[in-house]
Amino acid sequence: MSNPCIFCRIINGEIPAKKLYEDDEVFAFWDLSPQAPKHFLVIPKKHLSGPGAVSVEDEAVIGKVVRIGAELAREHGVEQCRLVMNNGAEAGQTVFHLHLHVLGGRPMSWPPG
Ligand code: AMP
Ligand code: ZN
Repeated sequence: MSNPCIFCRIINGEIPAKKLYEDDEVFAFWDLSPQAPKHFLVIPKKHLSGPGAVSVEDEAVIGKVVRIGAELAREHGVEQCRLVMNNGAEAGQTVFHLHLHVLGGRPMSWPPG
């Protein structure tokens, strides 16, 4: 049976995505439903259901996810951006493979909805 996780399937090439970056631990791709002029997702290749599933052994790769997110934003002309991780359905999480949203290219307000 194929992996039911949509982001694992993107990593495995079973579902197409507009890839921005890939290495042995991290994958980044443009969000299908962008909420800003520049909106992409950075994910660890290891399946973690969300920030609440991160353990000590995952700390390094989560730091890498943040670094790659900021670097890719800069490469795409975005110096100032919002980095978001939703943790749980009530917080707005809809895909349960940990992902960092990187949004930029427009002014942002706070608090989020
Ligand atoms: P969240 O609501 O934090 O779980 O974010 C999930 C994000 O994944 C949303 O912004 C969706 O637009 C995005 N998304 C869902 N499916 C795909 C896909 N196949 N390719 C790219 N982005 C996707
Ligand atoms: Zn997954």
